[in-house]
Amino acid sequence: MMKNFEVPIIYRSPLITAIKKKRKETDKMKRDFTPTLLDFGPLQIYLARHFGFCYGVENAIEIAFKTVEENPGKKIYLLSEMIHNPQVNADLQSHGVEFLQDTYGKELIPFNILKEGDIVIIPAFGTTLDMEKRLKNLGIQTEKYDTTCPFVEKVWNRSEAIAMKNYTIIIHGKPWHEETRATFSHAAANAPSLVIKNMQQAIELTHYITGNKPATDFYEEFKGQYSPGFNVEKELKRIGVVNQTTMLASDTQAIADLLKQTMISKYNLTAENVEEHFADTKDTLCYATNDNQSAVTGMLETKADLAIVVGGYNSSNTTHLVELCEKKLPTYFINSEENILSEKEIIHYNFHTKEEVLTADYLPVKHPVKILLTSGASCPDALVEGVINKLAGFFSVTDIVEDLRKNFQ
Ligand code: SF4
Repeated sequence: MMKNFEVPIIYRSPLITAIKKKRKETDKMKRDFTPTLLDFGPLQIYLARHFGFCYGVENAIEIAFKTVEENPGKKIYLLSEMIHNPQVNADLQSHGVEFLQDTYGKELIPFNILKEGDIVIIPAFGTTLDMEKRLKNLGIQTEKYDTTCPFVEKVWNRSEAIAMKNYTIIIHGKPWHEETRATFSHAAANAPSLVIKNMQQAIELTHYITGNKPATDFYEEFKGQYSPGFNVEKELKRIGVVNQTTMLASDTQAIADLLKQTMISKYNLTAENVEEHFADTKDTLCYATNDNQSAVTGMLETKADLAIVVGGYNSSNTTHLVELCEKKLPTYFINSEENILSEKEIIHYNFHTKEEVLTADYLPVKHPVKILLTSGASCPDALVEGVINKLAGFFSVTDIVEDLRKNFQ
């Protein structure tokens, strides 16, 4: 499955490529989640065992840049951001690729200017059945330029399997996220479907399953999150859960457990007959989400002064890495090394309030300073190396970067 993709060299980092290769060779089964120490003397950076471009992102980038290369003079559009990384999206735009919609599905370019033969690239998140139909009606061939990740398609297939057994599909995901909107559309074509965004909504849902809350409240509470004609009294008797591929693994497990337990209590079920009301399936998080979250958990066992997480602010998988780090130590979520203004100041994203903030004195005055570092699945390694170089510059140890690379080779 893990093939090598052709990704523009500017996204790669010689240092990180060497480290990843070495770690892979010595840990083929991916059992070791301890971070890699980059020892600069006064600065110690602990790099997570897994981070950066995943299968789906590399696949999407390869297809997009190949499409640009092979179609000079043709109009090339992206349905929306291809992945949630500002640099990659800006690079595609600089190659003449235009975005039809923003992340939330708002039209940026009117669809009626599309002509037969124009190219529309479908992003790694996939798209809705309605959108596929709309593009087909405009004479656009989408199959050839579809970068939908196979791990997202797996969620659609799981939904279909659950629907075939007459369960209602509960999708644990962010209702506005492209991937969840696409999954919802595929699920709703086969069975009554409902999106729940977090544990809070899962708890509320249990009140409708047990009948503790009047059914009429449901439609207001879950507005915009259920399929047309959803009948709350009939359609919460048999349910199955799927997940957006990038959710937090611990939340995902807790939500599935809660819903299963609710069914067990309501219908007096045992392990033998639980499937009468609850489709007992595994979660649909993708391998990259699991690897990157496990790597952060492993990284957090090292005592450090702060953590830096690099990635797009609208990236779901990156946000969850930030969430894990934040529980343990001061964490700075940045989308490039440019956010590190100096050794005194850093601009970083607070995903709770959805705004960038400036923090002063983020680097402690001590010896050595210990920093944990990771990035999301849509973040180029070159950006992480940029962060390493910037930090090394503050300690006048940039010359060590090259020595480190050689050591890993
Ligand atoms: S994060 Fe997972 S599902 Fe999303 S593109 Fe990467 S491999 Fe695919």
